[in-house]
Amino acid sequence: MGAAMPALDGMMQDWPLTVDRIIDHAARMFPDIEVVTRRHSGAIVRTGYAALAEEARLLSRALASQGIGAGDRVATLSGNCDHHLALWYAISGMGAVTHPLNPRLARDQLAWIANQAGDRILFVDPGFVDLAEALAPDLASVETFVVLAPRAEVPPNRLDALGLDEFLDLGRAAPDAGWGGFPESRACSLFYTSGTTSAPKGVLYSHRSCLLNAMLISLGLELNTDETLMPVVPLFHANGWGFGHIAPMLGKRLVLPGPGLDPASLFELMEREAVTTAAGVPTIWTGLLAYLRETGARLTHTRRLLVAGSAVPTSLIRAFRDEYDVTLQPAWGMTETNPAGTVGGIVPAGIEGDEARLAAFARQGRFMFGVEMSVRGADEREVPWDGASPGRLLVRGPCVVSGYFGADAPAVDGGGWFDTGDIAVVHPDAVMQITDRAKDVIKSGGEWISSIAIEEAAASHAQVESCAVIGIAHEKWGERPLLFIKARPSARLSEDAMRTHLSARLDRWCMPDVIEFVEDLPLGATGKVDKKQLRARSSATEGQEKAEGIA
Ligand code: ADP
Repeated sequence: MGAAMPALDGMMQDWPLTVDRIIDHAARMFPDIEVVTRRHSGAIVRTGYAALAEEARLLSRALASQGIGAGDRVATLSGNCDHHLALWYAISGMGAVTHPLNPRLARDQLAWIANQAGDRILFVDPGFVDLAEALAPDLASVETFVVLAPRAEVPPNRLDALGLDEFLDLGRAAPDAGWGGFPESRACSLFYTSGTTSAPKGVLYSHRSCLLNAMLISLGLELNTDETLMPVVPLFHANGWGFGHIAPMLGKRLVLPGPGLDPASLFELMEREAVTTAAGVPTIWTGLLAYLRETGARLTHTRRLLVAGSAVPTSLIRAFRDEYDVTLQPAWGMTETNPAGTVGGIVPAGIEGDEARLAAFARQGRFMFGVEMSVRGADEREVPWDGASPGRLLVRGPCVVSGYFGADAPAVDGGGWFDTGDIAVVHPDAVMQITDRAKDVIKSGGEWISSIAIEEAAASHAQVESCAVIGIAHEKWGERPLLFIKARPSARLSEDAMRTHLSARLDRWCMPDVIEFVEDLPLGATGKVDKKQLRARSSATEGQEKAEGIA
């Protein structure tokens, strides 16, 4: 036997995968591709990737002039706009950490998050100046506030805030700041989970994970044609689903809706700016569908609506397909996965019938290259891929969290697996389907009832606009399902009719014990139906009924 050969390194360049390179690339390759923003005033402003990159560099210099350096956290409190995107690059490009705050969180949560993050500067959208003012007394580390509008347009405030023009002037007077040139493992941005099921936790993305995430999603969505992208998902939610990096990386025209997230404003912008692909949580598209139906308006440019964040009912997919010729493209991801995960919309050959094909299409999908999955049963072994055996969904990969910001314990097990908190089955074609969140599963008499399965059955009724299921305590069974329904306008939907509809679709033991018709469903900080609020509401009612001797 010969002597062992020494390991051999490749002879290619070391080119750290850092996000500053994305905007530099866009500035050179796609200088004039538009980034369109709707401001608070309703005015539409247009910039291009070259101008956006220039703004980012100037902001970087201004940040350095204020003593911001590598690793410092700089927060934003803003919707989707050109300045917010420029800040993403300005902050991360100089080696500091972009920390987008979610303005829809409760004030005490927001202050807690900003303090845990140790944010030093806070950039505030003009529409959130009041919120920043209310938070200010509780912000321990913020030294400077900057409002994202020229001084002359900054609403009166007690923050001693600079206008954006003044801040940019600081940059003009300052020497060049550092730009890129650091290892790809450095922290790029900090996103807190939205607290749908537990207290918010900070996920600290590396440059490498953000860059890989953008590539993975671009490939997963096959974003290779002429597209105009509109992320309705906010830049502050789960890395804005990567769109802030994807669009300049690929040179896609980008439309940023600012504060106008109501269906009428979204529709108007999508039409005016010829948006081809938009992305948002299901409640956004439920609202848009209701608007289109009510007004008779048509989408003439939009071909695809990316939908993730919660399960999407097949009725919604069908309505957009049949009534508007628009594809609702399901995907799954989470803050902890940067958020790349799966892409759905897969219909295996051999599935017959529209109903079955739609059901397959609506599943969360196959994992993209770079995200490994394992679905484990109660015995900790991988469940069979039979589409029927549920287990805990675990993931690992270069874009998956390893530990939470400020926490000592790792967020993963010894094998590097992160428990998503989701329950899933895997179909024989490797398609993953979420059946519930572990915290939303209804544990009834030793069986698990999927809240998503009941919601799917209820949403398939033509008179239902949206719905949600929670578990309520039951003396004998532990928990039983309670179904909330928001009916379509002018619908006349009775509980009996709903029960008949459901009983044709659900096993008897999965039928909801209670059906409650509501005017509206409460939404959480990321626009998803907030089941925590529904639970609180139902236990308050129960408590009151008990107190009044009704129950
Ligand atoms: P939060 O957990 O606070 O809602 P995220 O926005 O990171 O914050 O949400 C991730 C979670 O959203 C996932 O763990 C999963 O429960 C749910 N989710 C995301 N996409 C889908 C989907 N396509 N179908 C069902 N659930 C989804």
